[in-house]
Amino acid sequence: MSILKGTEKVINPLQQSALNKKGLCDYVVNVASGCLHGCTFCYVPSTPVIRARQAQLQEKGVDNPQMDWGKYLFIREDVPEQLEAVLSRKRTWHETSPGRGVVLLCSGTDPYQNKQTATVSRAAIQTLLRHNKRVRVLTRGLLWTSDLDILANPNVTVGMSLPYGNDDLSCQIEPQAPPPSKRYQALLRGSKAGCRLYVAVAPTPPMMDKDDFKKHLDSLLLLNPEVIFWEPINARGTNGKRMLAAGLNFTKSIMEKDAWATCFLKQWEAIEAAAEDLGCIDRLHIWPDQELKGYVDSSILDYWWYKPTVEKWDGIETVDRQDRKSPPRQTQLPLLNL
Ligand code: SF4
Repeated sequence: MSILKGTEKVINPLQQSALNKKGLCDYVVNVASGCLHGCTFCYVPSTPVIRARQAQLQEKGVDNPQMDWGKYLFIREDVPEQLEAVLSRKRTWHETSPGRGVVLLCSGTDPYQNKQTATVSRAAIQTLLRHNKRVRVLTRGLLWTSDLDILANPNVTVGMSLPYGNDDLSCQIEPQAPPPSKRYQALLRGSKAGCRLYVAVAPTPPMMDKDDFKKHLDSLLLLNPEVIFWEPINARGTNGKRMLAAGLNFTKSIMEKDAWATCFLKQWEAIEAAAEDLGCIDRLHIWPDQELKGYVDSSILDYWWYKPTVEKWDGIETVDRQDRKSPPRQTQLPLLNL
């Protein structure tokens, strides 16, 4: 299928989200359906966001919304206008302890993947700020550096997914996204402009070990990110098939659940050890997968699913004294299934 672009209407762009379990937000705004970055590991096409709209997307000309991920983009140009309408009449605001009432752009697409999404994202962020909302931007795109005039704001934090610093590896895993070296430069620009920053070291391929994490974290610390999220690649759903189709042979080593969990736990231990050595363990925020139930003590999973990040909002520290203690290390307790 060749690249298919268009627009689509949206009635309520502000959706409540379960991403508070990752310490990310309580709401999401998605400025488009589809994503031209088309990362091989992306699990968005396996979620209801795409699965529930299979027939609708096929009507628009997308042959296979899962396997054709990365080849279609339908921009929601009316998001800012609809968002203004929703926020003007909204009387209650959902705010969990880890979600902090934050609105994330975006969970199902990249807000700064091209000029059209960047235009919609900018206007949506301005609308949210006019209504005094906290905003989190998550992108692999570079165009946010044209919006530093609005993003350098205490109510905005900007993050980029930067799982490694290796441009060659990125060419295989996320070939349509800007290379990590350029993402790093963008973060550096944001840092110099006074933006609040975070990094998602996600998703990491199984061959990364403690030395790789240490080298990578060491360079990320120069950006002074407030929090560093981490999770490894998961080959669940159709993303495993897309990764195999892209020639990523390491996929075979994590398709089976026990092997995936073993790899997850090994990398978890490695990145914690690397962060400990570098003195940034307090900024490391683990994203444990629901499927780790039975492999890790439930108290450790609960700790991460309900823990606010160390970020501060409105000058109020979100970390209470309890959370200031070192996080429970997953290696300190016996693994249940392994
Ligand atoms: S940039 Fe994000 S939403 Fe887009 S394909 Fe990559 S992982 Fe998926």
